[in-house]
Amino acid sequence: ARAQAMEVDESPTVEYEDIGGLDEELREVREAVEDPLLNAEQFEKIGVEPPSGVLLHGPPGTGKTMMAKAVANETNATFIKMAGSELVQKFIGEGSRLVRDLFDLAEQREPAIIFIDEIDAVASKRTDSKTSGDAEVQRTMMQLLSEMDGFDERGDIRIIAATNRYDMLDEAILRPGRFDRLIEVPNPDAEARSRILSIHTDEMNLAEAVDYDALAEQTEGFSGAQLESLSTEAGMFAIRDGRDEVTMRDFQDALDKIKRNAEDDSPGHS
Ligand code: ATP
Repeated sequence: ARAQAMEVDESPTVEYEDIGGLDEELREVREAVEDPLLNAEQFEKIGVEPPSGVLLHGPPGTGKTMMAKAVANETNATFIKMAGSELVQKFIGEGSRLVRDLFDLAEQREPAIIFIDEIDAVASKRTDSKTSGDAEVQRTMMQLLSEMDGFDERGDIRIIAATNRYDMLDEAILRPGRFDRLIEVPNPDAEARSRILSIHTDEMNLAEAVDYDALAEQTEGFSGAQLESLSTEAGMFAIRDGRDEVTMRDFQDALDKIKRNAEDDSPGHS
């Protein structure tokens, strides 16, 4: 039922080496998600409960989904993704039903990693809980929390959520036993930007050594996703020019174009 709301990937192909920067963040995700899946007995022997849920928070396009997929790959777990916005449904009870379906599916496919993107869509502090739409969203969130509370009996399922709006979240979902492991995923620093550019140009036919560090210096504030677009755009410049190799000049042109577009889009620009 409603499987189209979920994205199921039996064997995701993202690898840890595909992720630029985020070394410490990835270490934390692996400790919270990978170790409990691969070494469940060790947790039992030592007598500690693994973290229930991991919450990744930070700006868009920084690699949150990538990290969740890479951990699923590494643990041979099924990756099941659901957008929080999909859980906000018109009809009473529909959101809760989707949450149940999500966890049932995970149980059938375990080991499984459930990834809920935009968790804020169902877990924001409400300003006015009197409207019926809000009450329904509240019920959906309660269903999610109750599924997580029943985790012990659920076996090899781990849950990762992501948000760009950490400040908006209802504290109820951050309590111990719920999303009790918070990991901030920031925009990349210069070193990480250089690495991300080299990852995304790895398969490109380059005419000369691209100076990744020089490009990294000029892309302060770019996310990983924006750096990926920069590489694609550089390739487009070469294609438009009828060449089959990409030059450093193409990267500069691509960067100028992206920066120009960003200025055009910024508020206050007439
Ligand atoms: P959102 O919050 O918008 O859902 P996200 O943080 O989940 O974003 P991803 O979907 O993981 O971001 O990243 C989008 C794309 O950007 C990736 O498929 C990848 O190509 C590129 N990307 C983002 N971050 C990185 C990174 N740290 N290293 C390499 N590529 C990255």
